[in-house]
Amino acid sequence: MSDAVCEACNIKPAKLPFDGRLMCIGCWGSNNTLRNERLLNMGRTISANYVSETCFGCGSRNVDAGDREFWCNDCLMRVRVI
Ligand SMILES: [Zn+2]
Ligand SMILES: [Zn+2]
Repeated sequence: MSDAVCEACNIKPAKLPFDGRLMCIGCWGSNNTLRNERLLNMGRTISANYVSETCFGCGSRNVDAGDREFWCNDCLMRVRVI
């Protein structure tokens, strides 16, 4: 991975692509939540991608992401990001 900075907050390291922009884990998670709410409002089905700065499996903050994957370094949960 490059050491690009998140295009949404310009602070944290970019980890995952979202609509053509590279975002950090936190921004990706909040933008995905917004996108899901929009899709739900239109009566569409959503793809649940559990990406956040704390692991959904064990609550650890020792998480990372890259390419098309999000993972936790403590419980080893992996999530494929669409
Ligand atoms: Zn960000
Ligand atoms: Zn975990």
